[in-house]
Amino acid sequence: MDFDLTPEQREIRKVAREFAEAEVAPVAARHDETCLFPHAIIQKLGELGFMGVLVPPEDGGVGLDYVSYALIVEELNRVDASVGITLWAHNSLCTNHINLFGTKAQKGKYLVPLARGEAIGAWGLTEPGSGSDAAAMKSTAVPEGDHFILNGTKAFITNGSVGRVAVVMAITDPTRGNKGISAFILEKGMPGFSPGQRYKKLGLRASDTSELVFDGVRVPQDNLLGDLHMGFVNTLQVLEGGRIAMAAMAVGLAQGALDASLAYVKQRTAFGRTLAEFNGIQGMLGEMATEIEAARLLTLRAAYLKDQGKPARGAASMAKVFASEVGMRAATRAVQLHGGAGYITEFPVERMFRDVKLCEIGEGTSEIQRMVIAREILQLA
Ligand SMILES: Cc1cc2nc3c(=O)[nH]c(=O)nc-3n(C[C@H](O)[C@H](O)[C@H](O)COP(=O)(O)OP(=O)(O)OC[C@H]3O[C@@H](n4cnc5c(N)ncnc54)[C@H](O)[C@@H]3O)c2cc1C
Repeated sequence: MDFDLTPEQREIRKVAREFAEAEVAPVAARHDETCLFPHAIIQKLGELGFMGVLVPPEDGGVGLDYVSYALIVEELNRVDASVGITLWAHNSLCTNHINLFGTKAQKGKYLVPLARGEAIGAWGLTEPGSGSDAAAMKSTAVPEGDHFILNGTKAFITNGSVGRVAVVMAITDPTRGNKGISAFILEKGMPGFSPGQRYKKLGLRASDTSELVFDGVRVPQDNLLGDLHMGFVNTLQVLEGGRIAMAAMAVGLAQGALDASLAYVKQRTAFGRTLAEFNGIQGMLGEMATEIEAARLLTLRAAYLKDQGKPARGAASMAKVFASEVGMRAATRAVQLHGGAGYITEFPVERMFRDVKLCEIGEGTSEIQRMVIAREILQLA
């Protein structure tokens, strides 16, 4: 058993940390306050190769492993989860779906610009009437000559309005349940395809979340992604990797909350001593650090299994549910450790407290993760 990162993985983490601290952290609060999408940062992430982390070099990416990807995600979320979720939806969902199931032509046309960061990607599964029960979607894709005609609406889509490329799921055979759903690649500017309303959110305010509306969109046959009717089945594979990244997102947020708390309790005084000297405070810090380390280990283990080509569904769900709940507890404690200062926008823990809640909801809620884990151990999967 070897818990050490490779020299390459350590180097990637260093690059991500330096970038996050120098370029992302200084503007995170302003972006959050003004709900400003971080276009300039995303462009720089592209220059670093971080918009094509899992994509092989021949398709425009840098071809790193999942462990490296988890480290990058953790470092960015440690300072700004709005940037983190933008990177997650782009890499884990849209880009990875095309990477795993795209044809050579689709990769040349869509994956290369996505992986280079020249285009931002979105991925639409959730609908106004179906989230946890995603296969109950209503969007349809009906064949007409050499096209499909798409109608319907997707809800809560990250990068929905800033994305130039979107992978979306729609019903192609209503009699086949989840084996009658297909995936399609859509481009901004296709007639009938529009972003719909942009949501105002509790947290992750600098990230872009919107509806996607399909009103008779004519999508060429060539944009069918993967086999006909296999879109939902393929989605489960995409989600497995996505859950590992969302676990890393929660670890990053939790670590950010702990770092901010450590700095605060060393300088804040009460009763003639720094907060850091009180037993009660030390107990909270010790518990936060222990939980975060456990969440990180579960996350990196799931990433490692994925890199080894081993089954990782249960491990990904365990990492996701544990890390997101650790993240929520860490952010709650961080606000408590800051007292009144934790409740105002001047300190980053206020933002982290709002941002981290999404980790318990997105990419399958905690309740759904526990169901996935139970089905694995009951061997019902
Ligand atoms: C900021 C943000 C970004 C997002 N980005 C994307 C994206 O890029 N692409 C995308 O496709 N989706 C995205 N989503 C959607 C997200 O994946 C869904 O919100 C999530 O899967 C939950 O679905 P829902 O909101 O419909 O909740 P529901 O499914 O209505 O669930 C409501 C509650 O009921 C519980 N519940 C449901 N079924 C069961 C059950 N069988 N047993 C026990 N409890 C159950 C849930 O756990 C939850 O607590 C995003 C959401 C947000 C908020």
